[in-house]
Amino acid sequence: MRVLVIEDEHKIARALKKALEQEHYAVDVSYDGDDGLAMATTEPYDVMIVDRMLPGGHDGISIVKAVRERSIGTPILLLTALGRVEDKTTGLDSGADDYLIKPFALEELLARVRALLRRPVEQHSTVLDADDLSLDTAKRSVKRGNKEIRLTSKEYGLLEFLLRNKNRPISKNTIMQHVWDYDADILPNTIEVYIKYLRAKIDKPFKGKGLIKTVRGFGYKIEDDKK
Ligand code: CA
Repeated sequence: MRVLVIEDEHKIARALKKALEQEHYAVDVSYDGDDGLAMATTEPYDVMIVDRMLPGGHDGISIVKAVRERSIGTPILLLTALGRVEDKTTGLDSGADDYLIKPFALEELLARVRALLRRPVEQHSTVLDADDLSLDTAKRSVKRGNKEIRLTSKEYGLLEFLLRNKNRPISKNTIMQHVWDYDADILPNTIEVYIKYLRAKIDKPFKGKGLIKTVRGFGYKIEDDKK
């Protein structure tokens, strides 16, 4: 397994490289953000360890975002000296898989890397699809075939939830709990109304079968014959 370490503090970078190599990983080290991003997007890594604060035009967060925008699903562990909750949230929201606060024990870092490698790769893909419909969670874009579809925020949320549960009937109640927040004003027909909006955009304009199926008396599902 090949690991990329992007860390400007040479002492830490060297310690990481040594520890990872002892665990039989192939390790590349980059000491600045620009160079690191170039490596991250051109070489096939199995895990990336990225420091949050880096010299150059790209810090850790912008590297993670740029990598995910290119649909590279490699697990990423972010390192940081900052321990505040908002920094952790920003890191994970940007597309990182895990977060480790400095100083850390090398044993812990190695355990986290092993855990990241155990996850199935599909879980890291940013693209959800059914038939010729695709939704890119990094770009927040939706396409059917080559045609871009513009959705409102709620329509997008509803479609993403249905796609994540593809080929499974989902009750209206479950949809409500996952797509609408606790304080939302929900009427008995709100879900139906949004399903109608969504069908008008993703199914109606396209010839061929409708992807959103009604499960009578229960809810809805998105069908994908391929999988
Ligand atoms: Ca640093």
